[in-house]
Amino acid sequence: MKEVFANRRVLTLKRGKERVVTNRHPWIFAGALHTERGPEDAAFADLVDGEGKRIASGFHSRHSQIRMRALTFGAEELGGDVLVSRLIRSITRRAPLLDDGTNAARLVHAEGDELSSIVIDRYADVIVVEIANRGAEQIKPLLVETLQRELAPRLIYFKNDLPARKLEQLPMEDEIFLGSSNGGVVEEDGPETPIEEPRASARTQILESGLKFVVDPALGQKTGFFLDQRENRRLAGTLSAGKRVLNLFSYTGAFGVYASAGGASFVRNVDISAKAIDVARENHALNDTESELTVADAFQFVRSSSERYDLLVCDPPAFAKSRAEVDRAARGYKDVNLYAMRMLEAGGHLLTFSCSGHLSLDLFQKVIFAAALDAGRRISILRRLTAGPDHPVSLYCPEGEYLKGFLLEVH
Ligand code: SAH
Repeated sequence: MKEVFANRRVLTLKRGKERVVTNRHPWIFAGALHTERGPEDAAFADLVDGEGKRIASGFHSRHSQIRMRALTFGAEELGGDVLVSRLIRSITRRAPLLDDGTNAARLVHAEGDELSSIVIDRYADVIVVEIANRGAEQIKPLLVETLQRELAPRLIYFKNDLPARKLEQLPMEDEIFLGSSNGGVVEEDGPETPIEEPRASARTQILESGLKFVVDPALGQKTGFFLDQRENRRLAGTLSAGKRVLNLFSYTGAFGVYASAGGASFVRNVDISAKAIDVARENHALNDTESELTVADAFQFVRSSSERYDLLVCDPPAFAKSRAEVDRAARGYKDVNLYAMRMLEAGGHLLTFSCSGHLSLDLFQKVIFAAALDAGRRISILRRLTAGPDHPVSLYCPEGEYLKGFLLEVH
C-alpha cells in the first residue's frame, strides 16, 4: 500500500483559482488547473500553488473532469493512516443508530464523512461498498482490511455498477470478498471463479426499527435498500394507525411495512418493478403485515385509480440525473404530486420526496405549490424532511444533500 500513496500526480492550480481551495470544496476540476505532471495512473494527487507549495491532496483521476477529490487541505499529510482513521470514525459515528432493533446503516457517506467517492452500507452481516473514482479504487485492500478488522462481516460486496465507473474506465463487474470469519478468502469475478453461489449469498435479512427486510445487494437497486429513508419511514409508521395508506414508488415495500405495522387499516404498494414487488411481498410476510401489491407505472396508476387514501407516500427515483434534466424532472414531480393530492381525503397526509440532487429544496417547494393550485387543495407544510444522520452532509460540499421531502396536510 505504501507505494500507492507515494506515487503522486502533481497538479498546479491556475492563478486566480485559489478560492476553489480556500472554500474547501473537495472537487478540483480540470479547468482550474494550470499543469498536470507525474504518473497518470497515480491513485493520489497533490495540488500545488504557483510557488510549488502543496495546498491540498486527494484521490486522483485522469479520466474524470474532477481531476482530484481533495481529502486533506493545508499542512495535513495524506496517507493510509488518515483514511483508516476517517473510516473508523465514520463507523463509530453510527453507533448510536444501531441497537437490538436496527442493524443496518450507511457507514460512509462520501464527502459527508471526508471520504469523497466512497459509500459503504452495512446490512447486518454484509457490507456493501460503492467506489466512484479511479484513485479510491486503488485503496480497496485498505478498505477490506479495515472493515474486516472493525466489523468482521460475513461478506464484503463491491457493487461496481455506478455509471461514474464507466466514465472512469473502471471494471463494472461486482466483486466479493469473504469476511475474515471465512479465512479472508478473496473471491473476484473472473472466468475461473464460480460467482453464482457467493453472489447469491450476499442476500441477507436486516432489522430496522424492529422490522425485518430482505436486502439483496446483487439484484437490488443501488446498494440494495434505501437506508436514507429510515427516519421518514418511522414517521410514516406513526401516522398510519387506522389509516388507508398508499405507498407509491414502493420499491421493496419498506414504507408499506411500517404503515401496516403502525396499524394501517389498508396498505397498497405500487412499483413498476415486478422484482421489487416480489421482495415487498416477502417483506410483508416476514413481518406478518398485510398489503395489496400492484405492479404499475405510478403516473398511470394515480390517473386511473378512484381509490381514496388518508396517507400517501410518494418517493420516486431521481427524475433529474443532470442539471439539464431539471425542467423535465420538475414537470414529472408536479404531475405525480398533483394526482396524488387528489387521491387524499380531507385532512389526509402526503409524504412527498425528491432525491434529485440537482433539484433544490426551493424548487421542489415551488413544484408542490404549483401542484396544489392545480389540484385545488389547501395544503400546509407540517415538516421538512431529509435523510437520516447516517447521511451526513459536508458543509463545504452541499451537493451531498440530495434527499428532500415534505410532510403535508391536505384539505
Ligand atoms: N420508498 C422506497 C424507495 C423507492 S426507490 C423505500 O423506502 O425503500 C424508487 C422506486 O421507484 C424504485 O423501486 C423503482 O422501481 C420505482 N419506479 C421507477 N419509475 C417508476 C414508475 N414510473 N412507476 C412506479 N414505480 C417506479
